Amino acid sequence: MKCPHCKSKTTIRTSEELSPLTRKQYRQCTNINCSHTFVVLQSVSVTIVPSAIPDPTVHIPLSSRNHAA
Ligand SMILES: [Zn+2]
Repeated sequence: MKCPHCKSKTTIRTSEELSPLTRKQYRQCTNINCSHTFVVLQSVSVTIVPSAIPDPTVHIPLSSRNHAA
């Protein structure tokens, strides 16, 4: 993910797991003239191909894309 201000690359300084589907990332801009530091929430959104060994407590919506197309 690029820096929203200067569009430079950013690096993940640290991250923590909020749930099996969500992580919180602390990102820092690599442009020393900017140095913007911000939080990103990264989450699983849809399933393309279901797991062969699904966890019954995990609920992820199936992609609505038509694979036959
Ligand atoms: Zn920046």
